[in-house]
Amino acid sequence: MKGGKLLVFSAPSGSGKTTIVRHLLSQPELNLAFSVSATSRPRRVKEKHGEHYYFISISEFKNHIKNDDFLEWEEVYRDNFYGTLKTEVERLWAEGKNVIFDIDVVGGLRIKKKFPEQTLAVFVKPPSVDELKIRLKKRSTESEDKINMRIAKASVELATAPQFDKIIKNYDLDIALEEAKQLVLDFIQEPTLDKKE
Ligand code: 5GP
Repeated sequence: MKGGKLLVFSAPSGSGKTTIVRHLLSQPELNLAFSVSATSRPRRVKEKHGEHYYFISISEFKNHIKNDDFLEWEEVYRDNFYGTLKTEVERLWAEGKNVIFDIDVVGGLRIKKKFPEQTLAVFVKPPSVDELKIRLKKRSTESEDKINMRIAKASVELATAPQFDKIIKNYDLDIALEEAKQLVLDFIQEPTLDKKE
């Protein structure tokens, strides 16, 4: 597999990475396309199949694992599988796009490892775990139990931040958006090693 650049944005749930990714997608000069992941988690009311995720059953997901269809996959929460299909990235590369991912920290680091030169891995850091809790409650898309599960995972995820190429502190959203755009602009303008050779 070869193609454009890969921009990975990873962070604990509620850090604001989805807002940052959406902002970047709205900037035409970045030539980005969103990698739609497959997931076995239930669809939320406002989500659309093929736009936010490919919503599939657990057994379909396991079939894809067996067939080696994923670039990376993760059981992010119990019975909630998420993964990047190879065909998705190939499709977007064929369109001449740079591909942007909104995925968990383990998946993000896997992509970086598979495509070290082509990937910029960015960790979005929330102000604090308490602030995360407030944001997740405000979003009210999950039950109390699920929110607690996400919070528990956040501390483990925060510890992986130093393994990323860049860290964006999302304390002030406008500043974070500007910083993210500049990072991506700089990275997509850099030639990859493959191209230099
Ligand atoms: P949510 O259920 O809130 O949409 O996503 C839960 C977590 O799964 C988020 O951190 C999200 O970024 C991550 N995620 C979404 N798609 C993928 C994927 O394809 N692979 C991995 N490893 N994580 C993903």
